[in-house]
Parts: sequence; C-alpha cells; structure tokens
Amino acid sequence: MEYTEIMVRYGELSTKGKNRKDFIARLGGNIRKSLKDFEQVVVHPNRDRTHVTLNGASSAAVIARLKRVFGIQNLSPMLKVEKSMEAVQEGALAMMKEQLKPQMTFKINTRRSDKDFPINTDTMNRELGGFILENFPESQVKMKNPDITLRVEIRSNGIFLTSEVINGAGGLPVGTAGKGMMMLSGGIDSPVAAYLGMKRGVEMEMVHFFSPPYTSEQALAKAKELSGKLAAYSGNVQFLQVPFAEIQETIKEKCPEGYLMTIQRRMMLRLTVALAQKRGGLAIFNGESLGQVASQTMESMMAINDVTTMPIIRPVVSMDKNEIIEIAKEIDTYDLSIMPFEDCCTIFAPPAPKTRPDLEKARYYESKIDVEGLMKRALDGVQVTNIHAGEEFLNQNEEVFAELL
Ligand code: ATP
Ligand code: MG
Repeated sequence: MEYTEIMVRYGELSTKGKNRKDFIARLGGNIRKSLKDFEQVVVHPNRDRTHVTLNGASSAAVIARLKRVFGIQNLSPMLKVEKSMEAVQEGALAMMKEQLKPQMTFKINTRRSDKDFPINTDTMNRELGGFILENFPESQVKMKNPDITLRVEIRSNGIFLTSEVINGAGGLPVGTAGKGMMMLSGGIDSPVAAYLGMKRGVEMEMVHFFSPPYTSEQALAKAKELSGKLAAYSGNVQFLQVPFAEIQETIKEKCPEGYLMTIQRRMMLRLTVALAQKRGGLAIFNGESLGQVASQTMESMMAINDVTTMPIIRPVVSMDKNEIIEIAKEIDTYDLSIMPFEDCCTIFAPPAPKTRPDLEKARYYESKIDVEGLMKRALDGVQVTNIHAGEEFLNQNEEVFAELL
C-alpha cells in the first residue's frame, strides 16, 4: 500500500514555551537529515504534529527511517484523496484490503474541519461503514475498542484517511540535551550506552582509542562501522580516533603490572575530557557496567574518575550482560561487536589487574610518566571523520583485500 504522507506525533517534549519550539525545530531537522536521500519528500513541523509529504517516495522505506528518529512517539501513514465519496471509498477499500482480516472489527471515525463539504460526519461514518461491510461481509462494526479505527479527516485541501498507529523510538530529539563524548570501544556495551544516551537527546561524538601497530586496521574499521550503525539515530556522528600506543608502551615500561589498567584508563579519560573541552562536550559517556570486569568495580571507578570533575554518565551501569545484549541485537550492533578483532585494551591487559586499586598508589605510579607530553602527542594525532548513517568500513577493506589477491 502506497500512502501519500506520514503524520508524526511527538513524545515527551518539554512543555515549556521556548523549549518546545526548539525541540520541534530540532526534531524537524533530524527528520530531514534522516530522509536526506528522498529528495521529493517535504517535512512540515507544526506545534502538535509534523507532516511528512511523500510526493511519490515509498511510504514503507520512509517509515523504516522514521522509526529510528528519537522524539517520535508514534506515526500514522495517511492517504490523501480527492474530495468525493467515490475517492474515499476507493482509498478506504485499498487500506482495508491490507489490514482487515476475517472476523476483525472496525469503526469509521470522521472529522470535518471543512464545513462546506456536503457530507456530514454521521453520514460519512454510516455510508462508508456500510460500504466496507459490503466488501468484507465477515467483518463487524464495533464502537468500543474495535480492531481497526479508520479515521477520515475532511479538510479544505483534501480528505485524509488513516488507520494505523505505528510506535516510534520515543526519547528526545538528538541534540536537545547538548553534546556528549562517548568512549566507544569495539565491544558490546559502549555502542548500547551510546544508543541510550542518544535516546535522551544527547548528540554523541565517538572517541575511540587505537594502538597501531598492536591493533589492526580492522579493529579501527569495526569501531567506525559501529558508529555508522549508531548514526542511524541521528543522521551522522563525528568519530574521533586517538592514537594510544605510545601511552600504553610507556605505562607498561614504567608502572607496575597491577596498575597498568587503572593508569591506562586514567589517561583515556583525561584525553576524552580534553577533547570535550575543545569541542563543547558537556559530559563523558562510557559502557561500564558494575562488576562486569576488573576495571568496573566501584573502587576502580573511583581511582579512574579521580582525573576529572566532568560528569561521567554510564547508561548501562546497572544492566545485566544479557539485557545489554538484547538491546545490542535490537539496534543491530551485536554481530559487529562480537567480531574478534583485538582491542587496544586486550593487548595491554595485565594478566591480573587489581580489582580494588588504591587511589593514592595509582596517583603515585602515574607520576613516573610524563602525563602532559604524552597527552599532547596523542591529541596532536587525533583524526576526525564524519560518519553517515549505515556507512560501512569493514566491507571496503574486504574489497581492497580482494583486489590485492
Ligand atoms: P565494551 O563492551 O564497551 O568494550 P567492556 O565490558 O569490554 O565494554 P572495558 O573493556 O573494561 O569493558 O571498557 C569499559 C569502557 O571503557 C567501555 O565501555 C568504553 O566506554 C571504554 N573503552 C574501552 N576501550 C576503549 C577504546 N579502545 N576506545 C574508547 N573507549 C574505550
Ligand atoms: Mg571492551
């Protein structure tokens, strides 16, 4: 069934005057961005609803995109027809053929804002209801809680038919909460944490530490491709790759093994804070979940958190691994995350990291390395890539390999 427009209803928008305006404008912008390649589509944001006029674009394809845009509570595909009873009947028949199964109940609900239209709401409800019954003799009219409510809106510019309400992604429009820096590894947890932060309106910049030659191009490509998956929820994301090998080599050389992990994490956090300050980030996000691994005890968080007063938000902190995996599958990051490319942390992971590191000791051992110099060189080597929704990086590599063979 090809519809002519989609009506978008908002979720929990802030109700305060100016905020509400900003939210609607931001949502409209995000919808436009997510539909950028449908050139004929026109987006009209209004106070209570946003109308997306399809002008021939596939309604199924547009709906699939809209379902990922945060700030949309639900949406209804609509069919615009000429202002005649025949046109209404023809349109309603096409819609009911797809939706009204034998034994199902329905009702017609007409609203007429164009009072010049000669058929009033009662007549429309009765006549259209009769017409549907003739065509679907096994169905039934039911006024209370029918399976399908077919809405008929008679407006001055046409008659609009709608019968489906499709759930949206909920949340708040990405960008309305400000910018956050997401520490994105190639693992399962951090992409889920990024998704949850974006759901609450945070515009995420992805910060990824990589350690060539200890980590491969594949590991980097995987983190970028994960960012492409997450960009589906915002249109695009900035990906910041930070070279981390020199720091890891230095820590390994100068600090005791039990503190390698804690001091590495302190450096990662410092660098992320520096990037946030430079780029207007208001908070750091990571994928830590309490008790999951050695670095994720509260003692460890305290020893690592020590380097900054910037808020660190951990969206998956109290989730079980299987709950996180469930979301990872839903947002289509899971299959990528479990691809076995080595991460910079696995390579320099000490055999027995301290699960309860001591803050004073961490500070003391860290004083053996040149924190400032190491940070400066890492920051000088940062590369920024603008990544679009669905952009792929691993496949490209495969093609390159195929050409080489
Ligand atoms: P994940 O599945 O997100 O990798 P994890 O359970 O493997 O998490 P750790 O490896 O201890 O946990 O990492 C904890 C958090 O530290 C990650 O969720 C991520 O936010 C951050 N982190 C770890 N490695 C990197 C990296 N290479 N680049 C950026 N952030 C990282
Ligand atoms: Mg990890």
